[in-house]
Amino acid sequence: MSNRFEEKVILMTGAGSGLGQVSAIQVAKEGAKLALVDLNKDGLEATKKLILEVAPEAEVLLITANVADEVAVKNYVDETVKTYGRIDGFFNNAGIEGKQNLTEDFGIDEFQKVISINLNGVFYGMKYVLAVMKEQGSGSIVNTASVGGIRGVGNQSGYSASKHGVVGLTRNSAIEYGQFGVSIKAIAPGAIMTPMVENSLKQMGGDNWEEAGKEFVKVNPMQRFGIPQEVAYLVAFLLSDQANFINAAVIPIDGGQSYKY
Ligand code: NAD
Repeated sequence: MSNRFEEKVILMTGAGSGLGQVSAIQVAKEGAKLALVDLNKDGLEATKKLILEVAPEAEVLLITANVADEVAVKNYVDETVKTYGRIDGFFNNAGIEGKQNLTEDFGIDEFQKVISINLNGVFYGMKYVLAVMKEQGSGSIVNTASVGGIRGVGNQSGYSASKHGVVGLTRNSAIEYGQFGVSIKAIAPGAIMTPMVENSLKQMGGDNWEEAGKEFVKVNPMQRFGIPQEVAYLVAFLLSDQANFINAAVIPIDGGQSYKY
């Protein structure tokens, strides 16, 4: 098995479910020491259990925190550094989709809620982690954007604005921090079958959500949903030293859908 993360400290948000959970398991298998953050304590416990099944020696720090709360973000970064002394990789991933609606009906509160988690949360994370990585002179950050951050999707004002914002933050900070040996990239997943996408399909198709899912993926060039493990392989590569010269890049993982018209 590869040991790309031996002696490396990897911090991940949204690690209690979906893409964060599977990515945490992947880097743990490759030797990482982990600090895992999520709002959902039970989700974090479940991730730790899954990690210890495949990597019994793994060191795993769990931190329950809301990424939309700047003080909580400072705390999770401080706690990680206090425990492990450094941060080599940061998967800045926690996010929500929000309710789907036309722009005029989207709702001010809903818009602000989605922005505060998906965009403010990513910015706070970068602010505090970048200070640590700049001091070290090394590090890799992977922000989770979305196909909704590079294309119009519809009915997702808050999500689309926040994810386009994540792309902007990625490119801007990557230009600033390359000189300090720190690389910053974003992933833009298409529809990957996680609890988030299941909820989204339920919003579209109600009880017939599985049928709605089949319709949804018909237009994908590969005619299927992505699998979380496929994203975990990409995240692990981007967090590893193998991807140090990839900086400011926004990498779609969507079966080609974002290039289709
Ligand atoms: P998920 O719902 O399975 O996991 C998201 C995790 O983030 C959950 O454990 C949740 O508790 C946590 N979280 C939510 N709000 C939080 C907060 N305020 N503070 C801390 N943790 C919080 O979803 P997922 O599909 O794994 O999504 C992960 C990321 O990937 C999100 O940013 C999402 O927008 C993005 N994404 C997902 C897809 C997809 O198809 N699944 C596509 C594009 C982008």
